[in-house]
Amino acid sequence: MPSWEIPKEAPSSTGGGFLILSADTNHLQNSLVEPIKSLGQFSLKESRDRPAQIAKYLLLDEARMTGLTFLGTSGSVLTKERMCAGILFEDKLIDVGFGVLVNLVKSGARLDSINDVYISHTHSDHIGDFTGLIWAMAMENRTKPLRIVSSASTAAALKKILGLQSTPPSFVKFEIAFVRPEDASVKWVTTIHDPENLAYRFQTERGDLVYIGDTAKSEKISEFARGCDLLILDATFLDGQESLAAVTLHSTARDAGNMAKLARARRLVLTHISPGNEGAEKRYLAEASASFDGRIVVAKDHQRLPV
Ligand SMILES: [Zn+2]
Ligand SMILES: [Zn+2]
Repeated sequence: MPSWEIPKEAPSSTGGGFLILSADTNHLQNSLVEPIKSLGQFSLKESRDRPAQIAKYLLLDEARMTGLTFLGTSGSVLTKERMCAGILFEDKLIDVGFGVLVNLVKSGARLDSINDVYISHTHSDHIGDFTGLIWAMAMENRTKPLRIVSSASTAAALKKILGLQSTPPSFVKFEIAFVRPEDASVKWVTTIHDPENLAYRFQTERGDLVYIGDTAKSEKISEFARGCDLLILDATFLDGQESLAAVTLHSTARDAGNMAKLARARRLVLTHISPGNEGAEKRYLAEASASFDGRIVVAKDHQRLPV
């Protein structure tokens, strides 16, 4: 096996991004390039700044890249390893649970690059850092509008929360436009959860990304996600915790696998991991893969995935 390293500096031509370096070009050719090419996200280039090494770089071409970053993958409360729900996808932030703002700042993404915030529902593990995000944007002297996409009931709650947390209107110099998903031309459906939770389906050139938020198992979810490329699902619980899942209107990893199979999704991401189940990633994989035979990822904070 070749040894892999992440070079400390990216060649300037990449404009940043990931590099994977291998001294073994054959290995690179056979085991990495083909699958990665199939994702259409990478290009293979000769090393220019390390000519002494027989090495090639896989350059993550950020200009062409469509990817997402998990900013929080825990359910209900944050832990040392996982913040609550949040995903950065292009210029969209999807859910802003507790700790998401910390991971967003740590990710190095510019707050100004966010144009839309999609909110699934009003449980605090999905909106806990909402006011903090608005304040952080105001502190950066943001002037361009921010669009908040959600249900009408969630919009009403968020407006109230901004007021209850004494956000001075004069402090926020940008427009916060609360809109419905149809105004943003994004497909949505309500899930099996209380309060009302909206799942969203985003179209990309390479296939659709479906973010479910919180839900109990349901065929409705599979129908909504039919044929998507990447399905991000509530997988709060594991086998033996079905009654907890039923009471709290969440899913198990096995439920997620079943829903993904029925949806014929290409890839499945398990997230909203219950804090009590930390360290059980192998069980999550095993239980979801009992029915779903596509690629499964148990999401981790700061993990990036191509879409
Ligand atoms: Zn939740
Ligand atoms: Zn919830």
